[in-house]
Amino acid sequence: MSESFHFSTKLIKETVAVDPQTGAANVPVYLSSTFHQKDFDHYGKYDYTRSGNPTRDALEDAIASLEGGVRGFAFASGMAAISTAFLLLSAGDHAIVPKNVYGGTFRILTQVLGRFGIEHTFVDTTNLDEVEQAIRPNTKVIYVETPSNPTLAVTDIRAVAALAKAHRCLTFVDNTFMTPVFQRPLELGADLVLHSATKFISGHSDVVAGLAVAGSEEIADKLYFLQNALGAVLGVQDSWLLLRGLKTLDVRIRKSADSARRIAAFFAAQSEVRHVFYPGLTDHPGAKLHAEQATSGGAVLSFELENEASARLFVNHVKLPVFAVSLGAVESILSYPPKMSHAELNEDEREKAGIGSGLLRLSVGLEDADDLIRDFSDALVDVRAQETVGSGE
Ligand SMILES: *Cc1c(COP(=O)(O)O)cnc(C)c1O
Repeated sequence: MSESFHFSTKLIKETVAVDPQTGAANVPVYLSSTFHQKDFDHYGKYDYTRSGNPTRDALEDAIASLEGGVRGFAFASGMAAISTAFLLLSAGDHAIVPKNVYGGTFRILTQVLGRFGIEHTFVDTTNLDEVEQAIRPNTKVIYVETPSNPTLAVTDIRAVAALAKAHRCLTFVDNTFMTPVFQRPLELGADLVLHSATKFISGHSDVVAGLAVAGSEEIADKLYFLQNALGAVLGVQDSWLLLRGLKTLDVRIRKSADSARRIAAFFAAQSEVRHVFYPGLTDHPGAKLHAEQATSGGAVLSFELENEASARLFVNHVKLPVFAVSLGAVESILSYPPKMSHAELNEDEREKAGIGSGLLRLSVGLEDADDLIRDFSDALVDVRAQETVGSGE
């Protein structure tokens, strides 16, 4: 693909493939688990869909090109992609992982991979000294998730990847929050990019899927072996739905991110809001670094109200967003991390992770930003009124 195309053009070129046989403007859904072999001795490209399927291939090729990697892989969920990637490690190997890593990644490391002798150390990856000090002779992977969930902390991908290379380790980056529209970790030196494609890439809260993109043939070969061996592949129809979601990724996430920037600024100006976490706000501690490695603050922000009671009032009063886990959809999604994504942490651990009891996370969808702001503004009026009643004033 020529470098002269803009990303949005590339996105369409990679996802619209005219079928040579029929001229169909979309990749067909090849619902076939097996493939007839014409020749007794020479088998064709496809034999069995766990090992390869033309619809899944089209998706895998598209994400590989968009992330600037050598090969893409589609999995049954983000966790299937992440778990398969960690199995590039062997017993006795060690991984360095962010303290505030996605909960499912925390769970697979602490409750599954440890049983197979894969060791890990949790560190604050925003602090490079901490990362460096955790490196051991058996460290094989430094894992990065930036911006992190739900406080949107920013890790320096370029610096971590350089550190990893100097110690002969790989860098894995979970790029779910940014997508290749805003951040391309392989171009910054990472070795493997991971996605929960359930989020922005699907974009419509209708598919659970994962994607991985390898930056080198060596990793690609090993990951392909594992994808086929473990078998957590993405189904054919869901592969097609992801290709469809990808086509509008650029316009969706840009519109959502524009609204998110406005909404973050709105919350920052409200007296009921103690703190806004959004890497596109200049007072965010990672804002400068984020702007060096990504082209937008993204479509997810968190904001902290006084306490749990105010968060509850806010959630009960808003009319537009759904109240749910997940993110990255056409509809705005409001979630309460202390009882949702981070329910497994106790209050002490949550406070340490910066997750106060009044914290709400907002994934901004495609509603008009003015309507969303009005909805939030009305909800804050209600929060204020109830709190005034509650405090007996
Ligand atoms: C949702 C999510 C995952 C897990 O993906 P699933 O598709 O739910 O398995 C991993 N990382 C991040 C950052 C996520 O938001």
